[in-house]
Amino acid sequence: MIPAVMPTYRRVDLAFERGEGAYLYATDGRRYLDFASGIAVTGLGHAHPHLVKALQEQAAKLWHCSNLFRIPDQERLAERLVANSFADTVFFSNSGVEAIECGIKLVRKYHDETGNPERYRIICLEGAFHGRTLAAISAGGQDKHTEGFEPLVDGFDHVGFGNMGELRAAITGETAGILVEPVQGESGVRIASPEYLAGLRQVADEYGLMLFFDEVQCGMGRTGKLFAHEWAGVAPDVMAVAKGIGGGFPVAACLATEAAAIGMTAGVHGSTYGGNPLAMAVANAVLDVILDDGFLERTEAIARLLRERLEGLVEGYPAVISEVRGAGLLIGLKCAVPNTELAARLRENGMLTVPAGDNVVRLLPPLIIDESHVEQALDILGRSCAAWPSGNG
Ligand SMILES: *Cc1c(COP(=O)(O)O)cnc(C)c1O
Repeated sequence: MIPAVMPTYRRVDLAFERGEGAYLYATDGRRYLDFASGIAVTGLGHAHPHLVKALQEQAAKLWHCSNLFRIPDQERLAERLVANSFADTVFFSNSGVEAIECGIKLVRKYHDETGNPERYRIICLEGAFHGRTLAAISAGGQDKHTEGFEPLVDGFDHVGFGNMGELRAAITGETAGILVEPVQGESGVRIASPEYLAGLRQVADEYGLMLFFDEVQCGMGRTGKLFAHEWAGVAPDVMAVAKGIGGGFPVAACLATEAAAIGMTAGVHGSTYGGNPLAMAVANAVLDVILDDGFLERTEAIARLLRERLEGLVEGYPAVISEVRGAGLLIGLKCAVPNTELAARLRENGMLTVPAGDNVVRLLPPLIIDESHVEQALDILGRSCAAWPSGNG
């Protein structure tokens, strides 16, 4: 018999009743060090007092009123995102994939509006993940996500990750844009090099293409800068942001330059819930914390410490973990043993992580961790690796 909850997830048999900072407390009373953060969502940890206060105060005032009316906190959040990014304008939605969808529509609309309606195709990378709507699985192009859902949305071409020659060869008179994650998360934490991102900017300018970054996972401070592409000094025309922006409240944003958003006029796109007062109160509170003096510098410093300590761990247990990769606090441990088994072992020892493609275990701690959390994580990792049957040979 089918469960009442549609069985589309492979779930761990564990439930939580509360969270505090970097810890989750399970219904069985156990405490877990949360280096999963609900897949890079609870970036400020659980029950952050500033976020709780913002949500509670807003909950007593106004939840929803529709985008038929002005929403002052939405205007404020948009202005703050604009002031702290390449963008001039922002559309708010509820989930990462909706921000991606908005960006795809914007890219097509731009070319339609500027007299090139034949340009609708978007070049995407192998290993990409952009969410689960029809357009997004078509953009992702991974069989495991598309199988059985054909016909897919037309207009997405795929080229090898980091291969500029292949990308240039894929450009035709129908190409409208390039969609890239500066750090691929789901497929195993793969970083697009600064040179590659600069190359994408150059080729986009050369052919009049929209450069569209998916920072749903790597944005909002996760790499130690507000947005991951800042490390490369390369700005996109369009960007999708979600996960960390609401700290656990469902909210997302599609940011764009004024030039790119030329076709996004009244009536062309919309969302009932997108940017409602409740979501905006929380997202503004998240931004208060992330933009606070020294916050991102501290994130970067703690990420450096964690990375150093992990490199040391790998030297000690090459038969379990073969490589550390990633940027800031979006970290991948390439496993020499099955990644799901390492994740299960870590969980048994009290630490939550997220498996990814390419046999990687992802570490996505909240940005608020301190040295004590790093030491605790290394202790659990060390014990988990040391107990592996093949030892540390
Ligand atoms: C999670 C994710 C998405 C999809 O976000 P949802 O909120 O699940 O729709 C898109 N792109 C990337 C890079 C992601 O990590």
